[in-house]
Amino acid sequence: MKNILIIGSGVVGLAIAYELSKKRGLNVFVVEKNKSIGLENTSKSSEIIHAGVYYKTNFLKRKLAIEGKKLIYKFCKKYKIRHAKVGKLFIAKNKIEEKYLHLLKKQSLKNGLKDCKLINYKKLKKIEPNVIGYKALMSPSSGIFDVKSFISKLYKISKKNSVKYKFKSKNLKIIKKDKYFIVNNFKNISFDYIINSAGINAIKIAKKNFPNEKFPKDRYVRGIYLKTKQNLKINKIIYQSQKPNTVTPRVDIVPMLEGGYLFGPNVQKSKKVNKNLFFNVLRKNLRFIDKGKLKYFKQGIRTKITVNNKIKNEDFFIKKLKKYNWINLFGIESPGLTSSLSISKYVYRNFIRNEK
Ligand SMILES: Cc1cc2nc3c(=O)[nH]c(=O)nc-3n(C[C@H](O)[C@H](O)[C@H](O)COP(=O)(O)OP(=O)(O)OC[C@H]3O[C@@H](n4cnc5c(N)ncnc54)[C@H](O)[C@@H]3O)c2cc1C
Repeated sequence: MKNILIIGSGVVGLAIAYELSKKRGLNVFVVEKNKSIGLENTSKSSEIIHAGVYYKTNFLKRKLAIEGKKLIYKFCKKYKIRHAKVGKLFIAKNKIEEKYLHLLKKQSLKNGLKDCKLINYKKLKKIEPNVIGYKALMSPSSGIFDVKSFISKLYKISKKNSVKYKFKSKNLKIIKKDKYFIVNNFKNISFDYIINSAGINAIKIAKKNFPNEKFPKDRYVRGIYLKTKQNLKINKIIYQSQKPNTVTPRVDIVPMLEGGYLFGPNVQKSKKVNKNLFFNVLRKNLRFIDKGKLKYFKQGIRTKITVNNKIKNEDFFIKKLKKYNWINLFGIESPGLTSSLSISKYVYRNFIRNEK
């Protein structure tokens, strides 16, 4: 039997616990600093199942998003988790932006997606009459899902399969031996693997335990959401068109499963919520929207990282240390939810299966 310790019970730690719990010969433990699962970034998202349209083709996140999307839909169907494959529209407002739609379509084909379609003005007006636009690109395999039910299913199944969870468990003291680890919270047990999926704290934890290793640097930014209960008569996820591989300031519009709409996330450093900024973007994109009905909803932290001092690194960073069975998951920002079930398979296939 191999003993494995997972740090963090966000969607990533839970998906890994779920995946490993299905394998023979593994004894899985999860430590979580909060009193319950998924209280950090996992519950501060747009709940979108991303299709994989605009990520760079050679990025791990492109591969894992496309594989993960299929696995999430399958999982949701099997366990009756609420979800809806509503589709996503990238909106161009003029001829210049129309060029971006063609680039996006090209990128989607390069990424292996064959289902994205260009939509003309007449059709756009028919399917989304409240959206101001000239042309659009439709990604039919994008959707939304009930993240809370999803993670609680992962938790329940993994627990049934004997994974042990320890909540309110922080300040781990880990002693490294050549081939195993000893952890202060666990008596009479040593761990063959440690999986560090602690979200925004993952780099800090790695540094504390391996002060002489070189790790990526954190460069977090916030993503703030507003919401409305106003009936905007929008059915699809609405994104403004963007150059592939760039992130521009914008306000995404996402229909919520429980009714109403989510706006955001934006990108900003401070915690301060500025409704006017949101409204000014939204009114350029929608024919009608009531400013008075906009409410602050939530905010998450985008776990952006810098690898080797290169400013632009937007890929997931999932690596095992050379000398130790310690696996780090850094930079798991969007599409981390979409990719959770494929990230967990990736971790098993690449770092654990062959070593068993
Ligand atoms: C604003 C925003 C919107 C997003 N929207 C989407 C979307 O629509 N679709 C999508 O696919 N992805 C989306 N994402 C990405 C997705 O939310 C994340 O990739 C995902 O939630 C990351 O999960 P995680 O488990 O790595 O991190 P977290 O959910 O943050 O979990 C980490 C866990 O580790 C625990 N922890 C931390 N330190 C310690 C410690 N010392 N000891 C014990 N436990 C510890 C924390 O308490 C936490 O529970 C979004 C992200 C953001 C920020």
